Amino acid sequence: MQQPPWHSLDLNEVWARLASQPAGLSSAAAAQALRVHGPNALPEPARRSAMRRWLGQLDNVLIYVLLAAGLITALLGHALDAVVIFAVVLINAQVGFLQEGRAEAALHGIRSLLTREALVLRDGQRQSIAAEQLVPGDVVLVQAGDRVPADLRLIEAYQLLADEAALTGESLPVEKSATPCAPDTALAERRCQLWSGSLLRRGQGLGVVVATGPAAEIGRIGQLVAEAHSLDTPLTLALARFGRQLALATLLLALLTFAVGRLVHGLPADELFIAVVGLAVAAIPEGLPAIVTITLALGVRRMAAQRAIVRRLPAVETLGGVSTICTDKTGTLTRNEMTVRALLTAEGDYQLSGLGYAPHGGLSDAQGRLGMPPVAELIARAALLCNDADLREQDGEWQPVGDPTEAALVVLACKLGLQPAYEREACPRSDVIPFDPEHRLMASLNHDHAGHGHIWLKGAPEQVLPRCERAWQSGGAQPLQLDAWQTRANILAGQGMRLLALAMRSTAQRELSFADLDEGFVLLGLVAMQDPPREEARQAVAACQGAGVGIKMITGDRPDTALAIARELGFARNGRVLSGQQLDALPAADWPLAVQETEVFARASPEHKLRIVAALQAGGAAVAMTGDGVNDAPALKQADIGVAMGQKGTEAAREAAGMVLTDDRFDTLVAAVREGRVINDNLKKAIRFILPTNGAEALVLVAAVLLGMQLPISAVQILWINMITAVTLALALAFEPPEADVMQRPPRPASAGLLDGFLLWRVFYVSVLIAAVAMGLFHWELARGMSEAAARNAAVNVLVAGEIAYLFNSRYLRASALGAHVLRGNPAIWWVLAALIPAQLLFSYWGPMNRLFEVAPLDLAAWARIGLLAAGVFIAVECEKALGRYWHAMRS
Ligand code: ATP
Repeated sequence: MQQPPWHSLDLNEVWARLASQPAGLSSAAAAQALRVHGPNALPEPARRSAMRRWLGQLDNVLIYVLLAAGLITALLGHALDAVVIFAVVLINAQVGFLQEGRAEAALHGIRSLLTREALVLRDGQRQSIAAEQLVPGDVVLVQAGDRVPADLRLIEAYQLLADEAALTGESLPVEKSATPCAPDTALAERRCQLWSGSLLRRGQGLGVVVATGPAAEIGRIGQLVAEAHSLDTPLTLALARFGRQLALATLLLALLTFAVGRLVHGLPADELFIAVVGLAVAAIPEGLPAIVTITLALGVRRMAAQRAIVRRLPAVETLGGVSTICTDKTGTLTRNEMTVRALLTAEGDYQLSGLGYAPHGGLSDAQGRLGMPPVAELIARAALLCNDADLREQDGEWQPVGDPTEAALVVLACKLGLQPAYEREACPRSDVIPFDPEHRLMASLNHDHAGHGHIWLKGAPEQVLPRCERAWQSGGAQPLQLDAWQTRANILAGQGMRLLALAMRSTAQRELSFADLDEGFVLLGLVAMQDPPREEARQAVAACQGAGVGIKMITGDRPDTALAIARELGFARNGRVLSGQQLDALPAADWPLAVQETEVFARASPEHKLRIVAALQAGGAAVAMTGDGVNDAPALKQADIGVAMGQKGTEAAREAAGMVLTDDRFDTLVAAVREGRVINDNLKKAIRFILPTNGAEALVLVAAVLLGMQLPISAVQILWINMITAVTLALALAFEPPEADVMQRPPRPASAGLLDGFLLWRVFYVSVLIAAVAMGLFHWELARGMSEAAARNAAVNVLVAGEIAYLFNSRYLRASALGAHVLRGNPAIWWVLAALIPAQLLFSYWGPMNRLFEVAPLDLAAWARIGLLAAGVFIAVECEKALGRYWHAMRS
């Protein structure tokens, strides 16, 4: 018989059917259910087959040109040339395939580091567990910003608004409530259910899991929540475009060379054709895509090891070019370890003793006498009831569960002598207005068992004080002296303290709306919390200043608190702060200048964040923006790179971000920017290496044909050089360690300077240099009476040696490579040389290879000349770099 659907059952039936209860499952029952139902996860989407991924490597204009050349060469009967060309294609595809596989695996592994957590009640206690561990019957707490982890039947819902577009296609968020609905209600109308994968836009709720994994609706419709990740980035796309242009230019050059060779110098068509094919193959940087991908992927892995998880590959490139970081304060620059230090009541100020979250300590008054203010009990009750956090003791250490600000209030209540569990039991919550950064307050409506109701209010003082008419005093509440309270608050805020006001009023109502918070409250007191700045953040701030990266603190906290913290960290020395209110009053035209000059933005809402980013971008900045709340998503998307917090961030923020910091720390973000710069440098190095070396190989042939000279290196020999150097040498540059000055120069975007005028010059200079050396040596050796076969061998080897020398130049973009340091720091170079040099020796000395490539062995003196010329190439490039540095210094 078919069971009635979950949404039509009343809660007692739901509990009975799931063998669960409002306090949740026991760990044992959950473990048993997990064995029966399996993990709460959807099956992995099928990956492209290995064969298709391999063939995908050939899908590139440059490779088409190579394949066509190979085919025609084969048809013309040049078997060896064709074999080498196909070998180039195969080796390249194989290397590309392996590297892409590694890159994908690296990204895949990294994404799985970002596990989703769910807050559940197990064994009657709140715990955070991996969403995969959820089972039917689990009681789950959800709130704004969460992605619903499984299909839930709601038990309680406060202002809950769910975005179900992923499931129903309905783009407007839907209001949810705990009331059951008729059995035949359509999926999109079942208000008392939350669907796995939908995003909560507002509110809080408590629900019981009714279906997990593939059994949940999202699994049934077979839609995948997993996003498709591609290895494309703006840079790889720019390079693909460049590759197409290069292929065209190469074809034109080949045609031109052919025409000149045939018509002007009357060379035989067949020989000319092969030379031209060799030219085209040599000019094509077929290894470039693989090297770019692996450089990015290696960087992503290094970042992950430093707790910065890249969600989208393009973010890596952007990171290196970041010129301004917009950061939250709480938890990012500060430790997010809240401790209440002071209590301000109408009858005096009190200090609190005790360390961290341990609920031990007491109060002393301004004279240092121990004691409790008469209002203590009410303050403690407000702190406990208008609160969703808890404390947990583990191995003798007390830790917060939930928001640290609220956990600090639980600690306060304990120090004031109240028992959290007892109070919550005695006055259960009837309704709540959850905290949101826009209104900066939270209210809870609670009723005791005699039916007396109270609204408990807590929030930023300037939100709460205007709602209070009186302040609590032992003889009865007195009219509120607003100015006096504000002066007292200012003193503490100026010391970097975070302030919260607590208030209450009695009521007979059973439901709470925002209008109920307008007036009539009695102020109980102000609480001042300390949240010390992170020591590492201070160093990271200094690093940013050295690297020309601007810092903007954008916080929901007060201006004076924010400024005090900024100063402690070493920025905002000009003392300028703009509050959200001041920003609102600012004409749009003044924004770009104002945001440029100000480093601290206080009482800012997520909307301000969005406008600040846009204004900074209008001024030409590349902005990294941190965020955690559900409303931060637009600003995170607007920023050049959105950075979400892994610990205190919502799922909504994470999904909008390009990167997630698993430890929420500012210094991790700065380390990622540094890593981004290293990656950009290494990409630049690889490109600056590959293009000129390919250029040199092509130029040797072009020059010989155009000048009507004997080929110093035959087409098949060029193909050999191309085959063994194309992927090997440049790959080593992906492993380059950071240069000493990475964080001592101003930021530059990845795309700038990659394919610019300087690169063109470098391609020209090095191509001519190496080609000239190869041609020169060939003719010199011939003139000295060396056989043609041996002279060609010398030319081949000096070309390869020149490339190796240039590889060492390329290890430093601008800095000098002269010195022993050039031999240290990158073992990958020695690995590729260990592969390359034996191959070259075989080519030069092994009989069959000699015959195949028509070369003859060299004597020791010839090697000495090769070595000298390679050293000459190295020195010549160093001279060019030194001139570049000089020119750069003159300009700045
Ligand atoms: P940041 O944006 O840097 O993370 P923040 O955490 O200080 O800064 P919000 O969380 O938006 O900013 O808090 C702003 C203000 O709202 C705080 O200064 C405090 O007065 C008040 N507030 C913070 N948390 C709560 C809460 N859970 N309940 C009520 N009021 C709160």
